[in-house]
Amino acid sequence: MDRINKIPAYPFYPCKLFFLVFSVVNFCMNEIDILAIFAHPDDVELTVGGTLLKMKSLGYKTGALDVTKGEMGTRGTVTGRAEEADEAAKILKLDVRENLELPDGHVWLTEETRTKLVRVLRRLKPKVLLTHQIDDPHPDHNHITQIVREAARLASMQKYDGDFGQEKIKVPIVAHNIFSQRVMPSFIVDVSEFSAQKTEAIRAHKSQFYNPESIEPETRLTGKGFIDELENRSRYFGSLIGVTAGEPFYVREALNVEDPIALLTRPMNLYS
Ligand SMILES: [Zn+2]
Repeated sequence: MDRINKIPAYPFYPCKLFFLVFSVVNFCMNEIDILAIFAHPDDVELTVGGTLLKMKSLGYKTGALDVTKGEMGTRGTVTGRAEEADEAAKILKLDVRENLELPDGHVWLTEETRTKLVRVLRRLKPKVLLTHQIDDPHPDHNHITQIVREAARLASMQKYDGDFGQEKIKVPIVAHNIFSQRVMPSFIVDVSEFSAQKTEAIRAHKSQFYNPESIEPETRLTGKGFIDELENRSRYFGSLIGVTAGEPFYVREALNVEDPIALLTRPMNLYS
């Protein structure tokens, strides 16, 4: 019986092998090194765009996960904002940009939201996560910090959402962008070479920022000086490490340093 069963299956082996190899390659191609998880479609660009560009230039695979479609925004439409996010993703050279499709203005830490994020993390397998600042005044931003931290941990537990059939992953480390609260950064990334591209990616979100032809209501973000404000912020954090532009991060855990001399003799600003 064994022999009879094997004969008809033989001609399909090359196909099956090809499909298996294709699936493995395709699967691995979707895996990334660093994932930025932020609430609204322009948040990634406003906060960590320079760091993502720099990581890409160093050969890492980068991704962004927008948690909502930004439908509560004063300006723009869901469709228009998705197109702007695609355009910005090209400028940031992202390997992956996805949307978790949670409701803007109603993002909460729940079993459903944690599980949704765990499934993305297990599929993309990022080693590092960038996200909002803890205690950010925007409720969505702050709740996302909780969802990200819990999902990162739960993704490493095989029996959590085990019926879905994904493998557990190693816990990705979370680095919080510093934006609204005054916190001493754990580290600052020198993004001097990427400032222009970062601004270009921000400007790709045309509906959200300064546009003298727009007839939609004004917001703080649409004022003429808002992008200058962002650039000044980058210059300030750059000045803390003696470079032109920097993006600040806070890591809640202690950093494991291999060589303190190599680390502490990098350019710094001792008067910062
Ligand atoms: Zn936001």
